[in-house]
Amino acid sequence: MTKYIFVTGGVVSGIGKGITTASLGRLLINRGFNVMVTKIDPYLNSDAGTMNPFQHGEVFVTRDGAETDLDLGNYERFLGIDLSRDSNFTTGSVYSEVFAKERRGEYLGQTIQLIPHITDEIKERIYRIGSDADIVITEIGGTIGDFETPPFVEAIRQMAVEVGRESTLFMHVSLIYASPGGENKSKPTQHSIRKLQELGIQPDILICRTSQPMDDGIREKISLLCGIGQEYIVEGKDTDLVEEIPLTFERQGMAHLVAKRLGLEDRPLTNCVWGDMVHKLKNPESRARIAIVGKYVKGSDTYLSVKEAVKHGGIANESVADIKWVDSETLIGEKDLEDQFEGIDGVLVPGGFGVRGIEGMIVAIRYARENRIPFLGLCLGMQCMVIEFARHAAGLKYANSSEFDEQTLHPVIDLMPDQRNLADMGATMRLGLYPCVLKENTKSRAAYQQPIILERHRHRYEFNNRFRDQLESEGLCFSGLSPDESLVEIAEVSDHPWMVASQFHPEFQSKPLAPHPLFRDFIQAALEYQRRCRTQESTN
Ligand code: GLN
Repeated sequence: MTKYIFVTGGVVSGIGKGITTASLGRLLINRGFNVMVTKIDPYLNSDAGTMNPFQHGEVFVTRDGAETDLDLGNYERFLGIDLSRDSNFTTGSVYSEVFAKERRGEYLGQTIQLIPHITDEIKERIYRIGSDADIVITEIGGTIGDFETPPFVEAIRQMAVEVGRESTLFMHVSLIYASPGGENKSKPTQHSIRKLQELGIQPDILICRTSQPMDDGIREKISLLCGIGQEYIVEGKDTDLVEEIPLTFERQGMAHLVAKRLGLEDRPLTNCVWGDMVHKLKNPESRARIAIVGKYVKGSDTYLSVKEAVKHGGIANESVADIKWVDSETLIGEKDLEDQFEGIDGVLVPGGFGVRGIEGMIVAIRYARENRIPFLGLCLGMQCMVIEFARHAAGLKYANSSEFDEQTLHPVIDLMPDQRNLADMGATMRLGLYPCVLKENTKSRAAYQQPIILERHRHRYEFNNRFRDQLESEGLCFSGLSPDESLVEIAEVSDHPWMVASQFHPEFQSKPLAPHPLFRDFIQAALEYQRRCRTQESTN
């Protein structure tokens, strides 16, 4: 029988519920349980696809092409599994479904209400995702007390009645506030638990997010006032290395507590690969310095999967990749580049939309090409690499994407035919997994070591085949093509130590226990570049 764990959050948003959920999943997977995860987002958008990355962070794309909340990326990376569109839903999508059913007459004349129709739709979705799993972990986005959350809380309260309280575990993640005097304060947490209790839920496990260690006094107080056993209060201290969190939970016996509460077999830890990976991450043999040049660099979550995939590339090389974020809007001339790229071993341009910051990306790419610095371009990064090459190495002075200049004489990047005249902007990009055939004797083929790959996409523009022969003859190699050869998936600069860019987003498939081959080889090339520079310095 499937067991259900529900994760809620208190006091403030952005408290790390996603990482907590993912870490808990990891502990259970380490014990051989079959775990499924789902994230509920209480906002009204149908999905995350139309949301501003500045406001909401990265849009994560699943294999089946859903544009989801970035926490799905955390789940996939921590659990080492691929999720589907069923693992993320919003208030908007639940209401849309209920309205559609009502129009189809499926409710047979009933009055449609929040309870039971909306709550039933929510429950059905959680049950559906868990049909084959030992344990389903469901994270409720937002904070207890938000206007949008009560229907979801009511749905999970009812589920506990339906499947039995002994098969349900409520976990609450809350903030322990450190006062300016350095004292840990539990009052906001107490209030958020009260709020949860008002909605009919008594949390079983409390994760306290804190910036400083908790003493026994505060545990006693929370335990007494909120009715949670002291041993069920787990400390979640701030850390720079999110991969360490499962280990912190492990040390506090969280898997044991969960097993006890859910009546699961209390299995010993059998799978230690995660711990070994963290050990590697903390004891690198070398460090590479990677500049990520983008326009959303101010919000640290905007390029979350890219940041993590770079980290995985480091792990694959027994190395740590330190990231320097470079705002492309500030890059103008040669001098800026020299300052910004001092000591940089690799340059990466990630995905994005719109014209802002594009010229800065292009000068950065030119700098990397001319100075033979390893370069990795992702989606928009690939498009910019092609534009730069066309302008400065192939004499197409006006080369551009029609996304940035509709009238350009040399539209080397152009809108895909099926993207013209769309009425809806939501969920209409080329999304999800598509195959790509790799050319022999290329850097891409060397990285993947296989002739056909599947990668995740999210774009409307593509390389314009009108320019394929010309650019190829100037030294741009189209090393990855769609099986019918109509679409360029990967481009490489032949006369460069490692300059590779993909139309797809490899970052979505990279995992700490399975680093992505392109990121692995990019970091390897960066470390080689560093060695070459050092040898040159010592011989000069
Ligand atoms: N804006 C570009 C396109 O739509 C690139 C998209 C991206 O980087 N995800 O094709």
